[in-house]
Amino acid sequence: GIDLEHLSKRYGDTVVLDDVSLHVEPGTVTALIGPSGAGKSTFLRCINLLERPDSGVIRVDRHVIEPGRAVTARDLAALRRSVGMVFQSFNLFPHLSVLENIVFPQRKVLGRSKEEAHDRAHALLSRVGLSDKANEHPGRCSGGQQQRIAIARALALEPSIMLFDEPTSALDPEVGLEVLAVMRELADEGMTMLVVTHEMHFARDVSDTLVVMADSHIIEQGDPRAIMSDPQVERTRRFLRAVL
Ligand code: ATP
Ligand code: MG
Repeated sequence: GIDLEHLSKRYGDTVVLDDVSLHVEPGTVTALIGPSGAGKSTFLRCINLLERPDSGVIRVDRHVIEPGRAVTARDLAALRRSVGMVFQSFNLFPHLSVLENIVFPQRKVLGRSKEEAHDRAHALLSRVGLSDKANEHPGRCSGGQQQRIAIARALALEPSIMLFDEPTSALDPEVGLEVLAVMRELADEGMTMLVVTHEMHFARDVSDTLVVMADSHIIEQGDPRAIMSDPQVERTRRFLRAVL
């Protein structure tokens, strides 16, 4: 699972995370919602050290990142291997085929043989329903297909945790559903997931815990249905009124 204790982060004079703590149980899905600028993306990026928090402790599985201690390349590699991340923009390698996009990180990060990496890539493409796209270039795939390829690529490193930052918000609603279906399957298989999302149906139906962030803080967390039907904090109520 993930344990984040007292994370703080500022850019210059702007406080973006103010003493944020969160625990994600292994095998559970946590949905993170909140208004624009709340600090959701920054929070997610701190977990795999795309951003370095100013203070606080990050625990992912057996990896511990503490303030004041240098993070070695080895620490970083180990952490990033445990944590898969999928972004709003798919960030696929445009010059590689769909299959090679999934093969490449396995070769580079895990040092897998060509054959093993290809076998696994084919299995993952089949799992996200895209076996027929193996030899296409990503640019010739739809947004929803590209996002499913990005998920397959992240899964190829066999992470124990998956982070998603608004994976469907660049997609037409109907196309987004294909991606949400893949995410729902992952959740059903017991993947530990932390998902920043505006998809309230997904948050309500799939997540075990709902976390609401506003103004650099977690302002409310708990059972998704309970919070959506009866928020305890006025700021949550205001946000939900705007999105539901
Ligand atoms: P959204 O819902 O719009 O994606 P968010 O909750 O993900 O918002 P963040 O992207 O984490 O919010 O940004 C939180 C705050 O930090 C914002 O005020 C943003 O302007 C600021 N911020 C984020 N990244 C940087 C940066 N690299 N330099 C300076 N300020 C930044
Ligand atoms: Mg964001």
